[in-house]
Amino acid sequence: MAHPVALIPGDGIGPEITEAVLAVLNAAEVDLEWHRCQAGLAALEAGDPVMPEETLETIRRCGIALKGPCTTPVGEGFASVNVQLRKALSLYAAVRPVRNLPGVTTRFDNVDLVIVRENTEGLYSGIENEVVPGLVTRMKVATEAGCERIAHWAFRYATRRQRRKITVFHKANIMKMTDGLFLRAAEHVHKHEYPNIEYEIAIIDAGCMRLVQDPGQFDILLLENLYGDVVSDLCAGLVGGLGIVPGANFGDDAAVFEALHGSAPDIAGQGLANPLALLMSAVMMLNYLGEECDDDESAAAGARIRDAYDRALREGMKTRDLGGELSTADFAEAVIARL
Ligand code: ATP
Repeated sequence: MAHPVALIPGDGIGPEITEAVLAVLNAAEVDLEWHRCQAGLAALEAGDPVMPEETLETIRRCGIALKGPCTTPVGEGFASVNVQLRKALSLYAAVRPVRNLPGVTTRFDNVDLVIVRENTEGLYSGIENEVVPGLVTRMKVATEAGCERIAHWAFRYATRRQRRKITVFHKANIMKMTDGLFLRAAEHVHKHEYPNIEYEIAIIDAGCMRLVQDPGQFDILLLENLYGDVVSDLCAGLVGGLGIVPGANFGDDAAVFEALHGSAPDIAGQGLANPLALLMSAVMMLNYLGEECDDDESAAAGARIRDAYDRALREGMKTRDLGGELSTADFAEAVIARL
């Protein structure tokens, strides 16, 4: 029976990369039943709120969504739709695997790390105010329950995926209470439940320096919300950029698969966007169906798609961000030809 999946094309480059990904998934004959819905500017243009309740309901019903990026206005306007969605569905664990891809040459060839980002707390709490004109504040929130659940999630993930080490990036020397709580929760879970997974901590500034000097020393990085956001893009830069890093947001009741990058309005509608990050996110979704729903066919389709895009890259089939010439749709065709 076909799995129901909510599909949110999103804004900017979202619709074009979504079409490219759907073309590949259709060619791979995956058995999915798409439920299209809108969020962000696309929803506003249709006369709906930026985060329509109907879209949230569709995701809850399906349990799974594939989502394009939604534009967030800078310095004004509505709150980030991506953040609203993660909060509304309590998608507390963001996972971004960052690895070298064949045919994409970068300074390093030994990057294989996974970022686990707490997705609902920290400075993303949305609590911001103007105390008096000229003085504004924003609240960094950490709860014991929130810190513990992301720590559990990360160690469970490490165990299931047979990863060897978790490194927590923190700034608990300065944010003694909030980052202190995050750190203590991770240490507790490590010590009492997962002593076999290697565990280390690094102050985030020094950690970033180590990352750009020698990323191969890291395995899983566990970070609070804002650090996870920033370090994710840094890590994308280690392997070739935003066009090739996928992601997933997990909660207890739903999972939303989306690329790391945003809506890139500067290149929208020109066929310049790399659809690979969203395609890789779709492959994560197929693997998830394989693992959580014992759906071997989806998992097999995911493996075939991954082989096909690896081959395409190895044979020099690349979009402009990776130094190639292919358009968004041409790259999808190149993958389809190798399925
Ligand atoms: P948003 O406001 O939605 O976060 P943004 O443009 O500020 O969008 P990103 O979309 O994350 O932020 O990307 C920054 C830049 O990286 C873009 O301007 C674009 O040039 C490039 N980029 C991002 N994603 C891709 C992609 N899939 N393919 C090619 N280039 C990309």
